[in-house]
Amino acid sequence: MDDGLACAAGDLEMDFDIRQGKVRHGLFSPFDDASAVCTEVLVKPGFEKFICMCEPIKIKVIQRNSRNCINFDQGVGRAFYTSLEACGPQQATRQRCLAGAEVPAEPDRESGAEYRQQRAAECFGCGRVGKLQCQCAGIIAGVMHSTSSLDAVELLRDIRSKARELGFAGIGVTGVDLQSAEQGLLDWLAAGFHGGMDYMARHGLKRARPAELVPGTVSVISVRMDYWPEPDLSAARDLQQDGARAAISRYALGRDYHKVLRKRLQRLAEHVATRVGEFGHRVFVDSAPVLEVELATRAGLGWRGKHTLLISREAGSFFFLGELFLDLALPQDAPVKPHCGSCTACLPACPTGAIIAPYQLDARRCISYLTIEHAGSIPEPLRAGIGNRVYGCDDCQLVCPWNRFARQTAEPDFAIRNGLDQARLTELFSWTQAEFNERLAGSPIHRIGYERWLRNLAVGLGNAPRSREVLDALQRRSDDPSALVREHVAWALARQTSGEA
Ligand code: SF4
Ligand code: SF4
Repeated sequence: MDDGLACAAGDLEMDFDIRQGKVRHGLFSPFDDASAVCTEVLVKPGFEKFICMCEPIKIKVIQRNSRNCINFDQGVGRAFYTSLEACGPQQATRQRCLAGAEVPAEPDRESGAEYRQQRAAECFGCGRVGKLQCQCAGIIAGVMHSTSSLDAVELLRDIRSKARELGFAGIGVTGVDLQSAEQGLLDWLAAGFHGGMDYMARHGLKRARPAELVPGTVSVISVRMDYWPEPDLSAARDLQQDGARAAISRYALGRDYHKVLRKRLQRLAEHVATRVGEFGHRVFVDSAPVLEVELATRAGLGWRGKHTLLISREAGSFFFLGELFLDLALPQDAPVKPHCGSCTACLPACPTGAIIAPYQLDARRCISYLTIEHAGSIPEPLRAGIGNRVYGCDDCQLVCPWNRFARQTAEPDFAIRNGLDQARLTELFSWTQAEFNERLAGSPIHRIGYERWLRNLAVGLGNAPRSREVLDALQRRSDDPSALVREHVAWALARQTSGEA
């Protein structure tokens, strides 16, 4: 199968006995730069079959610019993961199935992540098949350990079991190739749909390239934790019709999920370390640099609904997602088929028209963005549509037929606190800064701060049914020290007195 590899005159080459799972011999011509260089090759799960079928193949290490790359053609290339290191040539050749992939040869670093990866691979057999080292005047082929994918399967089984013990209702594994999501991300950013969430653009394509975001990442574990705090959806639906009460997104009624999920994911990582030893990892919870729905979709936790959120067949969409990036290769889960079918219920249900087309969200119009992420004045044309939603919005999910399968959380941290599920707008609007801090300590709502909280409540009161109680509450804040609050109060008072509300 020598023809399975790209060749170029004058390149360095070596024999690679893939049947043996090791480099047979590998003396190479000297590099101009004789400093130590190594590269690593990871095979994908199921590659063992490939090993049985193949003849020895040759891998050529090509000196190119200051890097050395191994070129694979289609067929051979797709059997391998790209290098553990995320670097230029790898990114430049993100073709499907790694056809023609270049695996960069990187300076050998005996310590740090590479060493840990090696150790981890040895511990559970992640499928590493090669390590080539160039020392002084030639390359000395590293001996590859034989691996068993069964070990990785066993490890993953153990991780799943621990994840459930930690309260995660779902767990899936995917790799780091999100190439097909990149264009959609770029288009979304180019259209400006991210609004003022500059941090989304700041990370650029790193968001779709986990191995660039966290160098060394080869697998991503996605987890799901259900948060719906009530026995069914009826109370939340009734709230939509009661303009005197504050509608707060159900995920925010309890403790801050960031802390809860982060701690659990960290404990999951610690558990993995007890099995494989030290390994490279990083935890993400609702973090801008990560395409969490994309990762969860690929990890088989559900499919992206037309409202752009993840939907699980067994649990609807009222859950949090978190991710554990690892430098361990684990067996990957298969994505599930989408099941929105011909349904389009979420599109017209959006009060502000933020779902501009199936699978396309203009965050600038989304109430979750406007009431949580957006820092300044809420655009007037959107205020009426916000209604009584003062922190987030659940409407597109409340109409989704799959949420008849939503599960009430068993997590005490997500239990409703401070009566926030039924609170009156006027009551919340009367809170002092000290009360806001005290009652919302540990709540995700506290993150937006007192000023935005009052701004949102003023909009809700502007949309509330007209009453003496509402007018008095607004008038008491008409000289609020915050110009932002005063402006929204003035709008609300004008709306109330004109009878528009
Ligand atoms: S969260 Fe609310 S505003 Fe945002 S897309 Fe869904 S229904 Fe529309
Ligand atoms: S409401 Fe219908 S279209 Fe929208 S996400 Fe749910 S199933 Fe899909």
